[in-house]
Amino acid sequence: MAELEVRVVSERREGLLVELGRIISEHDHVLLRQRLAADVQGTCATLVLRGPDERRLALEDALEAHPRVLSLASSGGVALHASPVASSARAKHPASRVGGAEVAKIERILPNLAKDYPRIFPWLIHLEYEVAVEARNASLHLAGRRTGCWVYKRDYALGAKLGLLDAMRRIALPALREFVPAEQHGSELHLRDCPLCQPGGASGGHFFCGFLEGLLMDAVDEPSLAVHEIHCHSHGAAACVFEVSQ
Ligand SMILES: [Zn+2]
Repeated sequence: MAELEVRVVSERREGLLVELGRIISEHDHVLLRQRLAADVQGTCATLVLRGPDERRLALEDALEAHPRVLSLASSGGVALHASPVASSARAKHPASRVGGAEVAKIERILPNLAKDYPRIFPWLIHLEYEVAVEARNASLHLAGRRTGCWVYKRDYALGAKLGLLDAMRRIALPALREFVPAEQHGSELHLRDCPLCQPGGASGGHFFCGFLEGLLMDAVDEPSLAVHEIHCHSHGAAACVFEVSQ
């Protein structure tokens, strides 16, 4: 159970709480407190809710999809420790994308990735289903970069700049091993049993390419590095192999 604060903007306040209250209880949440205030677009309702974490995203989606909701912003897990990857805010307009990634959906799961790290695979699988098929790879890549940057800042930023192979050994390898068995072979990183790359399914390697880029970008003296997955378990290889180059 966690507390969640949601701010909803709507054109009119009449009946708003009743309609939203129905959605809230359908998603196993209870309304603890509410505040209605005038807003340039009509009214702004601040709702403090409590409910199971695993229903939170579905609840936010349902609230956002309600025809009377013009925009929604949320900051979740306030009962837990504060998330280092900030709160999310979204307005109702076509999804903003960077290189095809669905940025708003990624930003919405980042607090969860930070909170549950390193048990993040369920969130990434959730993200894969949330985004459009054509945005999947770019979205996983961007989620990986944001996560890698965050892990670097959290755990490694105080160290000196390293050469690429040293950075892979001292930063990428221990970071990867929090998720999956990993080995380094020269400029390659080999991951075994990656849960995002199941045989016969789509490859989740885009997440790890982004993750390694975000993680290593600021660690090395020459920041222009690229990561490619050259073999993938989902295509029948024994391990997912990532080649890091500068
Ligand atoms: Zn793979």
